[in-house]
Amino acid sequence: MIIKRNDEKLKIILGRGESFNEQYMDTVLSIINRIRKEGDTALFELTKKFDRFDCEKVEITRKEMEKAYKNLDPKLKKALEKAKDNIVSFHEKQLEKTWIYEKSEGTFLGQKITPLERVGVYVPGGKAVYPTSVMMNTLPAKVAGVKEIIMTTPATGGEVNPVVLAAAYIAGVDRGFKVGGAQAIAALAYGTATVPKVDKIVGPGNIYVALAKKLVFGQVDIDMIAGPSEVLIIADKSAKAKYIAADMLSQAEHDELASAVAVTDNKKLAEKIKEELEKQLEALPKKDIAKKSLDNYGAVILVKDMDEACEVANVIAPEHLELYVESPMEMMLKIRNAGAIFLGENTPEAVGDYIAGPNHVLPTGGTARFFSPLGVYDFIKRSSILYYSKKQLEEDMEDIITLAEHEELIAHRNSASVRQKKR
Ligand code: NAD
Repeated sequence: MIIKRNDEKLKIILGRGESFNEQYMDTVLSIINRIRKEGDTALFELTKKFDRFDCEKVEITRKEMEKAYKNLDPKLKKALEKAKDNIVSFHEKQLEKTWIYEKSEGTFLGQKITPLERVGVYVPGGKAVYPTSVMMNTLPAKVAGVKEIIMTTPATGGEVNPVVLAAAYIAGVDRGFKVGGAQAIAALAYGTATVPKVDKIVGPGNIYVALAKKLVFGQVDIDMIAGPSEVLIIADKSAKAKYIAADMLSQAEHDELASAVAVTDNKKLAEKIKEELEKQLEALPKKDIAKKSLDNYGAVILVKDMDEACEVANVIAPEHLELYVESPMEMMLKIRNAGAIFLGENTPEAVGDYIAGPNHVLPTGGTARFFSPLGVYDFIKRSSILYYSKKQLEEDMEDIITLAEHEELIAHRNSASVRQKKR
């Protein structure tokens, strides 16, 4: 469990994102093709097969969401509403504006921001229910100005969890459909008589959902493919082993494939973390899952100094990074790859999962090297704006003609030269 940087276990941790399984590809491809060709007929048949639901009424209206909201436990309602306010305030800071500038007299260049028209939010079924995920996926789209938000979720036997419905109401979902899996993703991407076609699909799901999202990318946009959750905690001698172990276990209990790693330069602390993990693990209701996760992708990595700790973090590129050190702000400047960075001893990851405001949909499996958290920028698109004066066109004419002729695109050349002043 306590390892050094060159240990084989680190290679295993680095390989954690490679869990894509080709064996499901044929099934998913054939489901997508069926939806494209047969629409609702295939959608309802597959829903009956996988979710044991007859589809007599697949649509979930805003009225039904409101009813669930009204019946919600007041404590839960208060927590979800507070989370909503914080998520909205944070995401409003991400709003981009259209801009335009005068390049020369009478010539303007700029960029126009337009929200996407319609977005699909996939909410996974299964035992665990995550109403905060409904809000984290929906609210940035609302802030961006998306006109219509469609939710799909599998409803085994026809029932949808009422807390999910209430969260959808709070977040502003417009319509829902009781369909799930690859067939729901295909229906959102291509549209059926019942499910409208969307511009982008967001939200987590199992392997069928994740593969379907990959395959419809291009027909629609998608968010990232979220894998099992991860935390990496950099700790120095000021850190309390008890807190570190608790934070590691808060990830490990999610999934047998979740990853929880601590990195320290202090041997004594490393040993204490190990002891605490063993102690706290025993008291956890999900101890079997957490133990398997620690065996798979858990470790305490002992490094020579804090610079090496930052290097390890940058290589692992974790979804969640906690800097539990004396000067976290200073250390943050050395971090290049992390989905979300939690600073200091009073910022456990649960703060970000539920209430603080930043999005909890974050890149996993090392993809923080190139992906960002889900945000308002995922729900807008940019168009370039060009407005030329006659004078500027004359000024650029020769270069346009040279470049067009070089590319042997004579119609391109002509479209400029036809406007040329007669000499
Ligand atoms: P799901 O909604 O993702 O998948 C259920 C659907 O899978 C079914 O409706 C069915 O259509 C399809 N399916 C099941 N067996 C199939 C088969 N043999 N062939 C074809 N399709 C089949 O719900 P789930 O299965 O409970 O999975 C939830 C997933 O979402 C988990 O992997 C969980 O880790 C993940 N999750 C992630 C986050 C996050 O924030 N990263 C949050 C919540 C859930």
